[in-house]
Amino acid sequence: MDNTPVIVKDEMLVKGVVFYLESDLPSEAKFLLEDFRLAVNNAVRAGLQARVTSRSALNKLAYKDFRRKHTRMYSQHLVSAFEVAGSVLKSHRRRVRKGVACRIPYVKRLMMKAENQAYKLDRKSGVIDLPIRAGCHVELKLVVSQYHRKYLDDMALSLGSLTVLPDRVIVAFRKVAPKPFVPESALSLDTNERSLDGVFVEGDVARAIKAEFPEVAIIQQRHHERRKRIQRKKAHDRRTSRNLCRREGWREHHRIDYRLHQVANSVLKFAEERRSAIVLEDLKGFKSKRSKELNRRLSFWPRRKLHQIIEYKAQWKSIPVLKVNPKNSSRTCPTCGRMRYSRMGTEFKCECGWHMDRHINASINLLQTVISKGMAGGLRFDPGAFQHDVMMILYDPVTGARSELNGTSGVVGVT
Ligand SMILES: [Zn+2]
Repeated sequence: MDNTPVIVKDEMLVKGVVFYLESDLPSEAKFLLEDFRLAVNNAVRAGLQARVTSRSALNKLAYKDFRRKHTRMYSQHLVSAFEVAGSVLKSHRRRVRKGVACRIPYVKRLMMKAENQAYKLDRKSGVIDLPIRAGCHVELKLVVSQYHRKYLDDMALSLGSLTVLPDRVIVAFRKVAPKPFVPESALSLDTNERSLDGVFVEGDVARAIKAEFPEVAIIQQRHHERRKRIQRKKAHDRRTSRNLCRREGWREHHRIDYRLHQVANSVLKFAEERRSAIVLEDLKGFKSKRSKELNRRLSFWPRRKLHQIIEYKAQWKSIPVLKVNPKNSSRTCPTCGRMRYSRMGTEFKCECGWHMDRHINASINLLQTVISKGMAGGLRFDPGAFQHDVMMILYDPVTGARSELNGTSGVVGVT
């Protein structure tokens, strides 16, 4: 669970905000976490036996029995334990269907979830009132920073569920998705391994634009090598090898995630200021083949993740995002429509005389698809008036984020 908002049905947007506590969790609350975990794991077992996964089915099945076993627990918490168990069971069922062998699921982490009617948060003082059982409540004092104030003070946001962990809590803030604004300009972006490359159109002026994130590829490569080394060194001990690799994976994920958020923020800031629609290629269904040979290539998830971040942040800020099928976008000439099937270098060249950076050319095609489908309102794009010699830099890793030390040696080949 991280602090990224998730898009929920009926156009409610939810953002989970992490708060740390001013003091240690009171012991009553610690017992509650343990009790909750026990209830979740019991419900998981009961659900598996009876082959049910929905919260209401679990409720029917086990509530009475559980009420007897967990006499100390507030009944609302018991119901949300069923909900957590339901989601554990659902993902277990998904894994079974996929054929990934897996053991009976078990929640190890100490946690509990309370629905919004099962706790009180004083948004001024940042104090949570959490009921444990009849007549017993604990108060959790949250550490509130300026970042947190933004959410606490915004009364357009309602409170969703509360997740309590041993050292922190996550409060879900919810709002109805705002309508996207009518764009006055467009920012079309082609997503690549190391950068977003594109074109920005405002009125009659079009300019090339770039947001670079070369470090993502470097981090991926470095962690890939580390994992390979661990596997080699610990070949005799598969359990240790697996644990170390998993830890490497988490670290890689965090480091890349951090950088992707920075890139997304700069894109969104730009789009918000210029009231731009953001045009992206639709990466759905874009499956990379799995083979030994491809293992050496970089994995695809950072690009998809970047889109995800841009999309939900844009929705939160009511910036319109237009998704386009990227088919042939990298090999079509935007002026004459000819297609190129042979391999090309970094530049796209056409018989008609048009030549352009390959990635920027792709973004122009994305933009033209949007315009031809009438998705961009009155926006136009004239390749003839395109000032591609001036590059606008949206994001620069040197000034934008902590840079990756000594990581430039293992640079991966660019396709
Ligand atoms: Zn052409």
